Amino acid sequence: MDLSYYMPTKLLMGENVVEKNKSIFSIYGKSALIVTGKNSAKSSGALDDVINALNSYKISYTVFDKIMPNPTVDVVYLGASVAKENNCDFVIAIGGGSPMDAAKAISALTKNNVSKEDVFNSSKYHDIMPMIFIPTTAGTGSEVTQYSILTDDKNETKTSIASTLFFPNVALLDAKYMKNLGRATTINTAIDALCHAIESYLSKRNTSVSEIFSLEAIRLIAKEFNNLKKYDLDYNSRSNLLYASSLAGIAIAHTSTVVVHVMGYPLTYYRDIDHGRANGLVLLQYLYKVNESYPDKINRLLEALNLTSLKEFDNVISSLLGEKENVSLDEIKKFASNSMKKKNVSNSIVELTENDLIDMYSNVFLK
Ligand SMILES: [Zn+2]
Repeated sequence: MDLSYYMPTKLLMGENVVEKNKSIFSIYGKSALIVTGKNSAKSSGALDDVINALNSYKISYTVFDKIMPNPTVDVVYLGASVAKENNCDFVIAIGGGSPMDAAKAISALTKNNVSKEDVFNSSKYHDIMPMIFIPTTAGTGSEVTQYSILTDDKNETKTSIASTLFFPNVALLDAKYMKNLGRATTINTAIDALCHAIESYLSKRNTSVSEIFSLEAIRLIAKEFNNLKKYDLDYNSRSNLLYASSLAGIAIAHTSTVVVHVMGYPLTYYRDIDHGRANGLVLLQYLYKVNESYPDKINRLLEALNLTSLKEFDNVISSLLGEKENVSLDEIKKFASNSMKKKNVSNSIVELTENDLIDMYSNVFLK
């Protein structure tokens, strides 16, 4: 047995969870920085719920809504300067992975003097502002992880800063904030969560505890495949996906992701393909590779998916993703070389070379 488990975030889930737990905001300070993107915090109703909660405790707030998809280093420095100017003492993140990941870096940069050259060096961070996270998508799991993933222009990819300081203090989960999510975002985020769970399960760092979380997340997401395809999701389905996404987040907090995410990052960086979709495009290639050495592990995965073969799973994912992008062989070679520099490649349970990655990308885009 390999019992090792750490997840310090207080998780609360349920309908109207923000309203029912509003006193929690008063624990962390008198002035909040609300970190969001342009739209989802407002359109989901989450921003209004948070502002009502803050008002009832006379907590002042500053809204920083400049977080773009795949947030840059510059935007988190800007957020930190806004937090300092307004004397904010805690951070509330509302949104999908981008606002949540950015909020972690903003909270840390407000408390530490770190140069832009050192922004990805987690040893530079010694303190952080308290953080309350409210996800408006069900995919990233950022609300329960120690990772902040930012666009890394120097290395032409996305890079993660990992620090135990980055676990939020509280995550408030309510599927009502996902009610108006569009079809593509709903599917891409569900596939992202599914990749987190599967990659964790097929990571060298998988443990008996992380596997409880990853396999349960896989089961729950698989139950929603038909509803996702029909884009017919009621509150209950949305809750299942949100719950599964947090379980998958807890799993990767212990194992990190593997080659699937690594191969997804260049597709996002160079071709602007959505993060979850990018992972979904390459996921099956990893599973075919693992099946050559660990068929028993793949059989357990198929059992959790309630499917009988990888081909069947391939068809499910392909039908959710629809038509694939055109990616040339020259691009594939660049993406493979870029991916090989990432340390998470070696977390994969099979040994992979640059040529393997070229083959895997080619199977997706050139066949
Ligand atoms: Zn992801």
